[in-house]
Amino acid sequence: MKKILLLGSTGSIGVSTLKVLEEFKDYFEVFALTTNSNIELLQEQIKIFNPRFVVVKDKVKAEQLKNSISNSCSILSGDEGLIELTSSGDYDILVSALVGFAGLLPTIESIKRGKRIALANKETLVAAGQIVMNLAEKHNSEIIPVDSEHSAIFQCLVGESRKRVNKLIVTASGGPFLNKSISELNSVSVAEALNHPNWDMGSKITIDSATMMNKGLEVIEANWLFGFEKDKIDVVIHPQSIIHSMIEFIDGSIKAQLSIPDMKLPIQYALSYPDRWESNFVNTNFPSLHELTFFEPDLVKFNCLKLAYNAMEQGGTAPCILNAANEIAVEKFLKEEITFTQIPELIDFSLNGMEDSSTIDHETILEYDRQTRIFSQKFT
Ligand code: NAD
Ligand code: MG
Repeated sequence: MKKILLLGSTGSIGVSTLKVLEEFKDYFEVFALTTNSNIELLQEQIKIFNPRFVVVKDKVKAEQLKNSISNSCSILSGDEGLIELTSSGDYDILVSALVGFAGLLPTIESIKRGKRIALANKETLVAAGQIVMNLAEKHNSEIIPVDSEHSAIFQCLVGESRKRVNKLIVTASGGPFLNKSISELNSVSVAEALNHPNWDMGSKITIDSATMMNKGLEVIEANWLFGFEKDKIDVVIHPQSIIHSMIEFIDGSIKAQLSIPDMKLPIQYALSYPDRWESNFVNTNFPSLHELTFFEPDLVKFNCLKLAYNAMEQGGTAPCILNAANEIAVEKFLKEEITFTQIPELIDFSLNGMEDSSTIDHETILEYDRQTRIFSQKFT
């Protein structure tokens, strides 16, 4: 039985992960679950999965939970609770499914203990890719991607020599605004941006998909995970989200991974790798798909993608600034404090206004994340 520490069990990836764990309950024991503040859902999860520990980030909610549960699990709280738990040695696999920069420090603690990381939290690699990958190598920690595109590439690379790979081809749905004009984007509402055509996800990544920042973050994520430079990572719009990504070999041959969209599949693979287990989560019926189409991404309309490419090329702290500014921009858009088209403007403002640094150590990244959040508030 492998013991699972699931960070962010009340989120979209967290809930899907629990469905996988339930399907394979003879293989896994739930060691710990965590939430930011959703103690109602956490309480249901505690009843079903009986974890040894839970962490509630919000301390008031943690107290409320202590007063209302009868199970014997220990309740920790705050960021320190997340660190205490991830730095304990008593589990086998970390499913890293917090959203945003908040996922970085607990993931690093787990890497330092040499755990397998099923990584959904892409912001960890965007903000601190070099630190994270160096630590993973040093501590022999396997990072298995959960993000569907990266899981696809990871699966395609199994048994292949990287030297024979010419490029990675990352697919993108294009989000809900693929066919809107630039001028129409000015007035899109929060509800429209939250309405993703193919995937049901947390609000931050759903907005990132609408701006296509998600694809920019994923190119940076792919760069760190697989060691391919930006000019070897193509992005192609594929609105049906059936091909999850591809690799092209030096002889022109292309290998792809396909299925109808369902995050349970890459989550299961990150847990079962190098094995594959029988399951019924997806059933891809080709005749019902009708067509698979492909387009070039529009970098003028989806300026966020361009900003991410530039930050990646610049390196140093630029991707960390990009990530923090994007988190602030998305938060402000969701609160209707800025418009949709002001999201890239705020990020650009922060990238231009913050002096970046080529030093990338742990403290520098934490400080740049903090400073960028303060600086981004100056955008009007
Ligand atoms: P979500 O918002 O649905 O869930 C986030 C989880 O993290 C929740 O359990 C929440 O309680 C917890 N959380 C949020 N902020 C926190 C904080 N500051 N401290 C502690 N806990 C906190 O998000 P999601 O859609 O599940 O995405 C999680 C991660 O996985 C993101 O990095 C996202 O980019 C990535 N991802 C998601 C999908 C998807 O289909 N949802 C696909 C690929 C990658
Ligand atoms: Mg993805």
